[in-house]
Amino acid sequence: MTTAQKLSFDVQLSDHARTAAERERVLADPGFGQTFTDHMISIDYTEGEGWHDARLMPYGPLSLDPATAVFHYAQELFEGLKAYRQEGGAIASFRPYANAARFNLSAARMAMPELPEETFVESLELLVQTDREWVPTTPGHSLYLRPFMIATQPALGVNYPSRTYRYMVIASPAAAYFGAGRPVSVWLSTEYTRAAPGGTGFAKCGGNYAAAFVAQRQAVEQGCDQVVWLDASEHRYVEEMGGMNLFFVYGDRLLTPALTGTLLPGITRDSILSLASDLGLTAEEGRLSIEEWQSGAESGELTEVFACGTAAVVTPVGSVKGADRAWTIGDGTQGPVTSRIREELVGIQYGSRPDAHSWVHKIC
Ligand SMILES: *Cc1c(COP(=O)(O)O)cnc(C)c1O
Repeated sequence: MTTAQKLSFDVQLSDHARTAAERERVLADPGFGQTFTDHMISIDYTEGEGWHDARLMPYGPLSLDPATAVFHYAQELFEGLKAYRQEGGAIASFRPYANAARFNLSAARMAMPELPEETFVESLELLVQTDREWVPTTPGHSLYLRPFMIATQPALGVNYPSRTYRYMVIASPAAAYFGAGRPVSVWLSTEYTRAAPGGTGFAKCGGNYAAAFVAQRQAVEQGCDQVVWLDASEHRYVEEMGGMNLFFVYGDRLLTPALTGTLLPGITRDSILSLASDLGLTAEEGRLSIEEWQSGAESGELTEVFACGTAAVVTPVGSVKGADRAWTIGDGTQGPVTSRIREELVGIQYGSRPDAHSWVHKIC
């Protein structure tokens, strides 16, 4: 076994970083994923050699050969997490080692190289420290971090995965994804399938999204905000919503679809499963059909439904529409359990609530 040599990052600071005034203009209304900070991280991988050329460099376009594998065979994966400005000005992220572990789980599925978890976290720290002025101070805003990896070999052969890769991290100041607390309406997709057993549903890869846009567009055409995915074989059991996991609230009992391999193992989902008992709720993983969803909502036994994920945190689901059915959950507004979970989670992330699970990772 070779001793893994710790990568050291070459630091090349931008000579065209935006001025404080330009930055403040962006931070006044950041939107989501539209404007990026002054720097980015890049690390290359070559089969036989491992990871090399780790660097922090000015944010900017890439120059890649048109034959580069990622353009043709979508060998790509990504992560998403945030840096939060805490009370007192310190900056922290939330469970970055969980993102590092999931990054490697996705990498294994996509026949891509794993990145040492320490290097993953160190790359985030270096970018956030360098661009720390870009971490918003507005409550509820954050700096969204997007680590990703692409296959970079310029070759069209498909007998073997790419032998070279690039890992990168970019960062973007972010406002609330949906208006905080505004319930979303969802469309049940029975025509399309997101993921099947043995496929890539559990991996955070761009290909999953490429195949999902047609259903998301259909949801919008149906007057809904988001698509809800059902199981591949019967289109009957609930899996997840767009890029978020779902929770069903029965009074003080939470139910979320079990991780069968076809849904994304959300870190927000996992955190809420742990938080539930702190809040005096019970939580279980299981299976829920769309008939049970409808009958529970109609009888009133199912009191709330919410979606959760890094980008939109916790978002209530107000109404559901399918090809031949439609119903409302509760009175269609955000319920008390959803509010409590959202406040608790956001409180931990921004440092105003105790971090009993040691999830908060101080950066600077
Ligand atoms: C990223 C993602 C989620 C949410 O995961 P978090 O770790 O909570 O942000 C849920 N579903 C899909 C499809 C995703 O890509």
